[in-house]
Amino acid sequence: MTMQDDAYLKCINPQCGLEYPIKSINVQCEKGHLLDVKYKNTPSENLKEVFYERRNSQGNIFNESGVWRFRELLNFCQIDTENIEECSKYLVSLDGAEGRQSKPYQMSKVAKFVEISNEYLWLQPEGYNPSGSFKDNGMATAVTHAKMVGAKKIVCASTGNTSASAGMFAANEGINCDVYIPAGQIAPGKLSQAYQFGAQIIEVDGNFDDALKQSLEDVQNHDGYTVNSINPFRIEGQKTIPFRALEYLNWEAPDWIVYPGGALGNTSSCGKALMELYEWGWIKKIPRIAVINSEGASTLSDLYNGKFEGEELRWNKGKPNTELISRYYDHLDKEGIRPKTKATAIQIGRPTNILKGLRALEFTNGIVTTVSDSEMLDGMSVVGLNGFDCEMASGATVVGIKKLINEGIIKKDDVIVGILTGRQKDAMLPVDYHNNPKNKFAKPPKN
Ligand SMILES: [Zn+2]
Repeated sequence: MTMQDDAYLKCINPQCGLEYPIKSINVQCEKGHLLDVKYKNTPSENLKEVFYERRNSQGNIFNESGVWRFRELLNFCQIDTENIEECSKYLVSLDGAEGRQSKPYQMSKVAKFVEISNEYLWLQPEGYNPSGSFKDNGMATAVTHAKMVGAKKIVCASTGNTSASAGMFAANEGINCDVYIPAGQIAPGKLSQAYQFGAQIIEVDGNFDDALKQSLEDVQNHDGYTVNSINPFRIEGQKTIPFRALEYLNWEAPDWIVYPGGALGNTSSCGKALMELYEWGWIKKIPRIAVINSEGASTLSDLYNGKFEGEELRWNKGKPNTELISRYYDHLDKEGIRPKTKATAIQIGRPTNILKGLRALEFTNGIVTTVSDSEMLDGMSVVGLNGFDCEMASGATVVGIKKLINEGIIKKDDVIVGILTGRQKDAMLPVDYHNNPKNKFAKPPKN
């Protein structure tokens, strides 16, 4: 069966709806709206069985991969997915390692901490990806598309996880990687993986938003390919995070899926995954998405919860009040307010995917809340006590769940899947945490 012309790109704004061929490298429509990867065909529900059987990979790296195991649901290459030679020719993989080890686990000490029965709480560590974060899920697909369009260089703005993932994939594929950073603002240690993988660091005067803007402009003017989450192909790969969780729950949707909120690529991809699965009839219930912002980088929470100008920002069936977002950003600039949290993975003031995020929240009747840095450190630490490693931003998931249970928003018998987005990359955070006996889970050194 030929899959030709099944996949294409479409503007997310229903009033605009411009469409582009799948080989387009635009990350936005010509009016500046975000794009979705769309598929015309409805995948057969029999694939659930196929995906399950592929968990016995039989030496096929595309079955071993937690991303490409679901390749029929992200088949923008329009290949014969059972043909291993075609898979090898088109699909980019770190030898099957992306997403391979991530699945939901029960963690009894976390359950006790958030005060819910162990059987209702699932946590999925994405830090066990090869470069140490969930980004490898979306980078596998973005770099696949980069290869499909013949790009020789991938480009990102990043101060951490994205650059690590992009650098690793680029090195594996033998292509170049440019990483844009705000000059003088990034601790060099955060870029250590990007250096290790031979990425070219490019320093830009200004803040992170300026670095991203510059990187997008340079891609337009030169021969490069953007792999930040503004790229709709990143979102495709990240859909496999909820796919894996749902598969392990026998496709019985939980009541909640909880993510830390940064650029909102994860929120967007989870929303898109759920919209597609529900439309195909693969799930009968729509889980609610909860997004946990840091108190110091709370753009989505401020806007969604009506804390700015008293209006609760919504997707509003495709007519969001984007003027409100612009005025909020102007307000941040005018007051000199910069995102500030030690959880640098979510230290983002202008979430690139805010509109897709709002769409996801509307579809899932989602909610947004905030947690403090000290709470996130407790969350990170209690995950550690279960023998799992996670970064500070992932702690937001844990304490966000705790807060929502305390507020009665998450019920005691709700089934929850929380995503732990990355592995610990800041060695001093746990050391400092445990050396301060005032911290809840601290175990200070003895002599
Ligand atoms: Zn448009």
